[in-house]
Amino acid sequence: MSIEPTMNLFVKKTGGWVASQLEACTRCGMCAEACPYYLATGKAEYAPIWKVEPLRRAYEQRFTLIGKLKVALGVEKALTDADLKAWSKVDFEACSVCGKCSGACPMGIEISSLIATVRAGITAAGLAPAGLVEKTEMQMKCGSPNGMCEDEYIKWFDSLEEKTGVKAPLDVKGADMLVVYTSLEIKDKRHNLYDLAKILNAAGIKWTISMDARDAFNMGSIIGNPKVQKELAGKILNTAKKLGVKQILVTECGHGFTTLRDAVPNVFGEELPFFVTHIAELLPNLIKEGKIKVKEGYFKNGHTYTFHDSCKIQRQGGIMDEPRYALKLLAGDTFKEMDSIRENGLCCGGGGGIRSIPEANENRLAAFKLKLAEVEKVGADVVVSTCDNCQLQLKDGFKHYNKAVEVKGLIEMVAEAMI
Ligand code: SF4
Ligand code: SF4
Repeated sequence: MSIEPTMNLFVKKTGGWVASQLEACTRCGMCAEACPYYLATGKAEYAPIWKVEPLRRAYEQRFTLIGKLKVALGVEKALTDADLKAWSKVDFEACSVCGKCSGACPMGIEISSLIATVRAGITAAGLAPAGLVEKTEMQMKCGSPNGMCEDEYIKWFDSLEEKTGVKAPLDVKGADMLVVYTSLEIKDKRHNLYDLAKILNAAGIKWTISMDARDAFNMGSIIGNPKVQKELAGKILNTAKKLGVKQILVTECGHGFTTLRDAVPNVFGEELPFFVTHIAELLPNLIKEGKIKVKEGYFKNGHTYTFHDSCKIQRQGGIMDEPRYALKLLAGDTFKEMDSIRENGLCCGGGGGIRSIPEANENRLAAFKLKLAEVEKVGADVVVSTCDNCQLQLKDGFKHYNKAVEVKGLIEMVAEAMI
């Protein structure tokens, strides 16, 4: 699809909202001061408000007299495919849809949502980055974007019995909880399956897993393709309904969690018959409620710990107090806070699918440097995160800059400290 029908469709669908948002912009520049890619590179085209310029122009040129006049008099050119291609580089290669710019805007403009709309337009026009298109096709074909197909999941789930003596609870009807992992975990954090089984069994939770709802990853949300988003989320939604669970637990996926919890009710136009939670929320609550016991101060071991707020789980998801409660208990006064935390946390630079776009590596590692500076300032040698994608980016970044900083997930810490 080329830009004309694509932008017409998006502007038509979002016209009023887009107009009210963009007309409120005072060009104050505060969103730019929040954007890690702009701050790290100093490039004017990476300012958040510039990333939504195609939408503003498309709206103005179609629906306002001044816009129509500008095009008719040749003051401004009508947007073309080539323009949108250039914006693909800005909106996909220099933005993690972290949402910090929206929080910084004094006019309350939802800039990151507008950026997501531009990304959807670029994708519909067939101009999304090749790396993301490839991952999307792979997930539609085999269930996971990184090629971890059903046979890999079968082997992983089977390995639970070999490692722990506990059989994987597959498709248990009437279970309380459906646990949904990500293929990043099978690849790089296989122990999450064993550690989480230990925690959930100790807490007396009747949980289940399912081959039909095994990967919370949703390339539709990342690339901005509503059809793909619906199809992938629908698999999990239908499995949860079929099994009759009361809740879905997303292990470490950030956007998978917010897609299921926040987007799915709107996408399907129905109230969910279960609630969606994340390990960042569940594990600390299990400790608080006395359902599992951990050794207090277990991680007071000469290291300094800090916590990385993930954009989806913490800023958007609002799960900020719970992981801190667990970390204070486990690491005591060796847990230190960075300067930019909670809803003001700095993106690690690796979200929004940017890790799947090789052309964005320079931007991604430049943005990571801001996070690195905060980690070094607080003197931490261990960074804890509840998102597996952030953990990969942090590990990558520390390795790239030759820094001896360890990255840990909350699941492994809680399992290790359990009494
Ligand atoms: S969403 Fe984040 S990365 Fe994207 S423009 Fe806004 S601040 Fe920058
Ligand atoms: S912070 Fe808000 S008002 Fe200021 S330039 Fe950015 S979008 Fe416009």
